[in-house]
Amino acid sequence: MKNTATIKVIKGIAEMRRFSLEARKRGAKIALVPTMGALHEGHLALVNSARQKADTVVVSIFVNPLQFGPREDLSAYPRDLAGDIAKLQALGVAAVFTPEAAEIYPPGHRTHVEVDDLSQRLCGRARPTHFRGVATVVTKLFAIVQPHQAWFGQKDYQQLLIIRKMVHDLNSEIEIHDIPTVREADGLALSSRNSYLTPEQRPAALTLQQALQVAARIMAKGERSAAKIASNLREVIRAQAGAEIEYISICHPETLHELDTIEVRTLVALAVRIGRARLIDNTLFDLRELSLRADLKKPARSAVAAKPAAVQPEGGGAKPAVKAGARSVVPPAAKTGAKPEAKSAVKIAGKPAASHPGKPAVKQVTKAAATAAPAPAAGIKAAAGKKAARR
Ligand code: AMP
Repeated sequence: MKNTATIKVIKGIAEMRRFSLEARKRGAKIALVPTMGALHEGHLALVNSARQKADTVVVSIFVNPLQFGPREDLSAYPRDLAGDIAKLQALGVAAVFTPEAAEIYPPGHRTHVEVDDLSQRLCGRARPTHFRGVATVVTKLFAIVQPHQAWFGQKDYQQLLIIRKMVHDLNSEIEIHDIPTVREADGLALSSRNSYLTPEQRPAALTLQQALQVAARIMAKGERSAAKIASNLREVIRAQAGAEIEYISICHPETLHELDTIEVRTLVALAVRIGRARLIDNTLFDLRELSLRADLKKPARSAVAAKPAAVQPEGGGAKPAVKAGARSVVPPAAKTGAKPEAKSAVKIAGKPAASHPGKPAVKQVTKAAATAAPAPAAGIKAAAGKKAARR
């Protein structure tokens, strides 16, 4: 059904508060989708998922200066507000919140929110103030928009974990929801920063996905040494001209502590620089599920030559395969026996795990995900024909 209601574009904090207050008074359930704009299918999948669970969807578009380091790409970060608003209007989003940095961080702003330990690991090593910036702005957005729920992507796994921990530690009642990583047809995780890749660099960006597939294959064959797995991944990425490894982490999916021996549930996360683009990707592996995957038991041609599986569009063989490079919400390994309905390789529950009091719990790896891509990442189905966000 075509959306006809006009999206509200809100710049000021006071107006945003009024909007939310009115929605709450009507009894509407508000979902917030925080973004930095330059919206792609990953963002739109978040919005579509939010629309399923909420009456009023608010998308914030704010390139948060606090989460950029001094030598990072704040001024170059892609921006397309008019295009973003048109996309969100078409999806039935009730409001876009686009505040000015000067109102979010007025002169004299001194308060920060920091989730210790988790923020210093993985991406936090090279970006020491990044997650403090993220946690601070998300706290502010929560205080302004006052949503009942907020939506984040598993592509930024560490960020998702940190937000869950923060919400728990701050006794917030906001529900945190997540969706799997949305990818290009060839497996590259969608990211606003992919626009930094030149056409010549674009093939090299697949090295992250290839490395994660190699990890799946060698773990399925029984390798349990994190050092050996990491060394295989390093070999795959180093074989790719122009790819520079920032980190390869084989770690506990809740604490992000590095592992010596991989556990039943192990996160493999990567950051790789290709030209101007810093790309990240991850997979949450469950060894019980991996061991069931016949496709991973076949002899690898060679670790370095391993390619992401070709892709068919969702819904099976009726449609032609999506061309490499085309936008797709299909998991890269759809052809490897993945069920099209495979949705989520990781579901992080809102409740703390019994064994980790006070910690956000990574709760389940779905059965469907057992056959999905080694990336976390089964695709998102386009939410066609779903109920419009009520205002
Ligand atoms: P950003 O605009 O990069 O700050 O991202 C805003 C939200 O979109 C975050 O929760 C991201 O994790 C999520 N996101 C970004 N890329 C993807 C993707 N490829 N798939 C799913 N979610 C994504």
